Amino acid sequence: MMTSTGRPTKVSIVEVAPRDGLQNEQSQVPSVAKVRFIDMLSAAGCQMVEATSFVKLDIVPQLADADEVFPVIRKAPGAHYPVLVPTLRGLERALAVDAKEIALVTAASESFANANLHRTVADSLVDVRNLVSEARRARLWVRVYVSVAFVCPFEGRIIPDRVRSICEQLLQVGPDEICLADTVGAATPREVELLLDALLSLAPPEMWAMHFHDTRGTALANVMTSLAHGIHIFDSAAGGLGGCPFAGPGALGNLATEDLVYLLDGLGISHGIDLERLMDASRFISRAIGHPLPSRVFRAGGKPKTIRVTTR
Ligand code: MG
Repeated sequence: MMTSTGRPTKVSIVEVAPRDGLQNEQSQVPSVAKVRFIDMLSAAGCQMVEATSFVKLDIVPQLADADEVFPVIRKAPGAHYPVLVPTLRGLERALAVDAKEIALVTAASESFANANLHRTVADSLVDVRNLVSEARRARLWVRVYVSVAFVCPFEGRIIPDRVRSICEQLLQVGPDEICLADTVGAATPREVELLLDALLSLAPPEMWAMHFHDTRGTALANVMTSLAHGIHIFDSAAGGLGGCPFAGPGALGNLATEDLVYLLDGLGISHGIDLERLMDASRFISRAIGHPLPSRVFRAGGKPKTIRVTTR
């Protein structure tokens, strides 16, 4: 549904802090704390929580406990808990714990695919195709991330036609959703507009999710532009958890769920998340990782409170 402004009236938020946030943390969070965190996110109304990653244990040691964490998280009715699966081995592990939704990764630049996936883009698309057909056999729901869809840390600006051609190939493979990631956190609304103009002729808005980083303070502006194009699936991380792996230490990474929720509430767009309970989850994980979280809305204490003036 659309409002008279052309914006959707309802948005789905994909909470990525337990995976994308925690994998960028220096410290190892105990498995019980991860489970508690995910349960708190579910209790806050998060309907889609990317729970963990079945990546090789030595590559992301922070998530090496995926096989223990996933089975014990409380699966809230109607909620979904996708897991990142980079390889067939990862898929086997995901199936062993009865995951119903998976996320796969490819990239829009050769240098990034080489550095992160140790593949050419073409080979990574072959991997995705194989994984999707295995996943289909197991009746899993599949999302595919396109990393560096706007700017690559090695190659700079990625032209929309390049991303379009990758997405065209992905659409032939038949995923349920394609997620466009501003991995570097460098996109501005103009780039978002150009990319969405190129992609929305391939598939309708429900095919596309946006994964923005707030590294340069443009994430919410990019959300606004995406909403104006009818996009209604957005990734974000509680508290803004997860630094930007391609920027200096202390640089912001994932768009914070609190900031996104506050914006959507202001626009009258429904999303199902309770801001106060979400902040409880952020406070909890902030204590577990031992440092403050960058979300502006979280730091401000949520919605503005009315200050009572008492007269004597
Ligand atoms: Mg991210």
